[in-house]
Amino acid sequence: MNQSSINNVEEHAKTDNNEKEKKDEPLLPHPRKWDIEWRNLILFIIFHIGAVRGVYLLFTAAKWQTCLFTLLLYIATSIGITVGVHRLWSHKTFQARLPLRLILLFFSTMAFQFSVVAWSRLHRMHHKYLDTDADPYNARRGFIYSHFGWMLIKKHPEYKLRIVDMSDLLQDPLLRFQNNHYWEVLFIAFFLIPTYIPTLWGEQASTAFYTCVCLRYICALHAIWLINSAAHMWGTKPYDKNMTPVETRIVALLAAGEGFHNYHHAFPWDYRIAEFGGYSLNIGKLFIDIMAKIGWAYNLKSVPDELIEKRVKRTGDGTHPIWGWDDPDLPLEDRNMSIVK
Ligand SMILES: [Zn+2]
Ligand SMILES: [Zn+2]
Repeated sequence: MNQSSINNVEEHAKTDNNEKEKKDEPLLPHPRKWDIEWRNLILFIIFHIGAVRGVYLLFTAAKWQTCLFTLLLYIATSIGITVGVHRLWSHKTFQARLPLRLILLFFSTMAFQFSVVAWSRLHRMHHKYLDTDADPYNARRGFIYSHFGWMLIKKHPEYKLRIVDMSDLLQDPLLRFQNNHYWEVLFIAFFLIPTYIPTLWGEQASTAFYTCVCLRYICALHAIWLINSAAHMWGTKPYDKNMTPVETRIVALLAAGEGFHNYHHAFPWDYRIAEFGGYSLNIGKLFIDIMAKIGWAYNLKSVPDELIEKRVKRTGDGTHPIWGWDDPDLPLEDRNMSIVK
């Protein structure tokens, strides 16, 4: 081997080592150039102004039926995103028959959070590359970034380098249709229907637009965004203390049960999304259980108590609730040190 090929081999080995070191580097947030997503920023401003007008009209001009309809649309779109796009399509925590898939697809289109395929890709990346630069709503970059800032700037280069399998969703003709004709179906489901229906009870179309479209959209959007921001910041970590997601009841209440986020990141295949909370704090679970009763939802996956207990003991932060003295979760050490007289 001549000197130049030896040099080449050495160069190669060096590059390989550098590559390897690069791969092993933890993906901590790095400073980055802010490249504005103008379309999202403009829509963001327009709908927020519309929502403020919606609040005014809700109290001064809207009929009671319109107020009720706004609330119902808020719940329907929350179900569309949390039960449909999140639990059914992103995580495959259960399976659904055609009528239920059609309802969830309609509700989620009404929610205007982009197509199921686009949403699920972001969300699968969030779980797979949690708390790194490839996590699209990386909570380590702070509240504003994880809440909505991530949507207003172009994706981090690290996100573009990583891939996540989406072939299962792309095989579904319904989802492909929604993805390929997104702006047409959005116009009908998000704008036309919610603006037209209130005119049937004599509401002004403009009032319906500001309340049933702008206001309910912005409220539902912020509730869902809180899962990426607040539910990664302020709360307990009974299942895994090594990641940002936390348990927060207020977010659960606002977003169909999705505030039990430490549990969800520990067990993303569980359709219940939580160990506790009951139906009142988890209407998403209530909805799926009802659908299962009528046979539209099936193959519901959940995690057995023993597995939860093992995880709590292995990686929890010690805040897992204990109901009292004979709770098997009460650590032996605490039990032995307690005073019994
Ligand atoms: Zn999360
Ligand atoms: Zn998830």
